[in-house]
Amino acid sequence: MIQTIPPQSGVAFKLAAGQKLKISDPKGEQVSDLVAFNAHDIREKISSGKTLDYESTIFITKGNFLWSNRSQKMLKILEDTNGLNDFLLAPCSPETFKIIYDNHDYHPSCFENLHTNLVPFGITPDEIPNAFNVFMNVPVAPDGKLSVLAPTSKAGDFMILEAMMDLIIGMTACSAEQSNNYSFKPIEWEILA
Ligand SMILES: [Zn+2]
Repeated sequence: MIQTIPPQSGVAFKLAAGQKLKISDPKGEQVSDLVAFNAHDIREKISSGKTLDYESTIFITKGNFLWSNRSQKMLKILEDTNGLNDFLLAPCSPETFKIIYDNHDYHPSCFENLHTNLVPFGITPDEIPNAFNVFMNVPVAPDGKLSVLAPTSKAGDFMILEAMMDLIIGMTACSAEQSNNYSFKPIEWEILA
């Protein structure tokens, strides 16, 4: 059953070993932050550093694995029709909007949408790792300078990931203006049989 994450919100759910998760961008140009924890020991979680190290690339896509802080494979990317994702930047948080956007009013964020949805699984805000940012476009210039550009994803682009262990997944429809070409859209997800 296809489920929808409304704009600027999030969800958390269990994904058993062998199950496949499809993440779709129904309108295009919308980022989804994804975190994963070992369902049997939440101290084990997705690791950007281990993934970039073992996969030897910063551009994680079809064929790559997402690794844990304990050097175990957590997810394998089976399909990625857009092919451009980010694993360098942390989830947008209330402070992101103060520091980058000079916005001191309340602003929804992936960090809040992850930790509030993960409460039922016993996960606290400080345990939220660097997220795998599906559809996020963060090019790195030769001098090392980072940019956050509009996603290249078009309406209907999707990713399919297979769980390598029993997982707790947290996912968002990202709330940051720059990351989503200044409009907030939903994200769809589905656990495939
Ligand atoms: Zn975000």
